[in-house]
Amino acid sequence: DEEKLPRRILPLGPEVVSRMAAGEVVARPSAALKELLENAIDAGSTRISVSIIRGGIVRLEVVDNGCGIRVQDARLLCERHTTSKLRSVEDLAKVATCGFRGEALASISHISELCIVSRTHHEEHGWRASYRQGKLVAPGVQAAARTPGTTILVTDMFRSMPARYESFLRTHAEEYRQMLSIVSRYALYHSGRIAMCCRKRETCALRATEAETDDLHTFVHASHLDNIRAIFGQKVASSLGTLGCRVLHRVQHAVAGTVQEAEILLERAYFSLLGASQTKPLHIYFVNGRLVECRTLRRAIEQLYARYYLKGPHHPFCYLELKVPPEILDVNVHPAKKEVRFLDEQIAFSNIVQALEQQLISSGAQRSFAVQA
Ligand code: ADP
Ligand code: MG
Repeated sequence: DEEKLPRRILPLGPEVVSRMAAGEVVARPSAALKELLENAIDAGSTRISVSIIRGGIVRLEVVDNGCGIRVQDARLLCERHTTSKLRSVEDLAKVATCGFRGEALASISHISELCIVSRTHHEEHGWRASYRQGKLVAPGVQAAARTPGTTILVTDMFRSMPARYESFLRTHAEEYRQMLSIVSRYALYHSGRIAMCCRKRETCALRATEAETDDLHTFVHASHLDNIRAIFGQKVASSLGTLGCRVLHRVQHAVAGTVQEAEILLERAYFSLLGASQTKPLHIYFVNGRLVECRTLRRAIEQLYARYYLKGPHHPFCYLELKVPPEILDVNVHPAKKEVRFLDEQIAFSNIVQALEQQLISSGAQRSFAVQA
């Protein structure tokens, strides 16, 4: 009978597909910020400033001094899957930039008002354009004054999704904390290369009020330790152990029938020595310049410290930079790129824990602490 007949299967229209994808890539304002920040970093900037009103919902602006965007690319810029960073399937196996999916600007243009001002180093003046749902809006591309670099201005994020809009307006303070934490972590990773600042603003007024000061302000020549001190405070910075660059693991992998060897490196590590701890865990992991969450590694490190700490809410600060050969790294696990996987990661992780443990023990500070059996 009629009622038992299944409904026809039909393809979704591109509009629906883009809108759904947009909600995944930028599920929240801080995810949009992470994408914009990574774009500014990929563009080779040495200075990036972020300004945020109401947790980014009302306004989010990222200004950089990177390579800029060619005016010829302005039309395609916010279409889905348009990118300057990836050309072929082969390239996918050696992504060296933070971005590669060509989805961020497109997604942002689907959930907000997006205005872009940019200028390359070869051009005498810049251009400006606004985008909506992937497309340029009238009056199209216009000339604009700007020093070389790019400004991305996002306003009214999630306005067309009332539930999300309301909920992020309510939690804008928490969202701002999350954004500040993302900028701080990237500022730390890019110590010695990029100066970053981040500020919360109350209004769009050109002149800042007295209350509007930078919550983060790093200098281009500051060292990692300088920036840990500036971001997390003197107390954290003064009690850290460190590990220099070392090979964690040599991976054997097959390439076109031949066995090749690739090295997984621990490039840099800063971590609490025994006796120093904070009530909140601070784990910051970068893999090939990408801020990632790494639950298994995090758990293993927490367990290591738990073996040496006295009972109570003690947590380490742990900052790690890993370098994994792109051939054995899969960056394409998650649409928001929060996770990565690589060959033999369990072995590499257990070698990290071992190196940390040796360093903790040899730092000698453990004597005054009872070792938990
Ligand atoms: P992806 O970063 O994955 O390539 P995006 O949607 O984030 O995709 O950006 C699309 C393209 O726009 C990038 O490939 C890059 O060429 C250009 N772009 C975006 N932001 C900037 C920026 N701040 N400076 C220079 N180019 C940028
Ligand atoms: Mg990007």
